Amino acid sequence: VRFNHFFSVVAMEQTFIAVKPDGVQRGLVGETVRRFEQKGFKLVAMKMVQASSAHLEEHYKDLKEKPFFSGLCTYMASGPVVAMVWEGSGVVAMGRMLLGETKPQDSLPGTLRGDFCINVGRNIVHGSDSVESAKREIALWFKREEIVTWKSCTHDWLYE
Ligand code: UDP
Ligand code: MG
Repeated sequence: VRFNHFFSVVAMEQTFIAVKPDGVQRGLVGETVRRFEQKGFKLVAMKMVQASSAHLEEHYKDLKEKPFFSGLCTYMASGPVVAMVWEGSGVVAMGRMLLGETKPQDSLPGTLRGDFCINVGRNIVHGSDSVESAKREIALWFKREEIVTWKSCTHDWLYE
């Protein structure tokens, strides 16, 4: 938490964003990174991962009773994903806005899912849905030492 000169609070958050196997195969890693970068968020971790079924079942454990759960885990294990942690004020909620709705057909143009996909089962990107789930997901996908602490030269032009 940082206090600016007028005593308002800028609460820094981190969120877990992943380009799913279809997004990787379709060449949408750069587009995903670009949108978060251009907004002003700071990339603090990134890696390509071929996730195991067990890892994906843990990642999506809140959905294990859903009928699409096994298909979802198979899809997510079907190729590498690009896992990232992005940091910034309000990044969890804004990350979800940059992604669009879960269903691409409910997603507006200008969002990643609105612009680049059609089907809920091939919706190209993942983003944490709350600060609490972001903490859990970051800890699941990254070791502490893989998260980089750095100051961007743009910081003072993004935050008053
Ligand atoms: N999903 C699906 N069918 C559904 C709902 C979800 O295949 O009817 C998949 C979809 O890939 C989605 C993921 O399960 O992104 C996780 O679902 P969640 O409700 O958490 O959506 P998200 O948080 O990814 O928008
Ligand atoms: Mg979700």
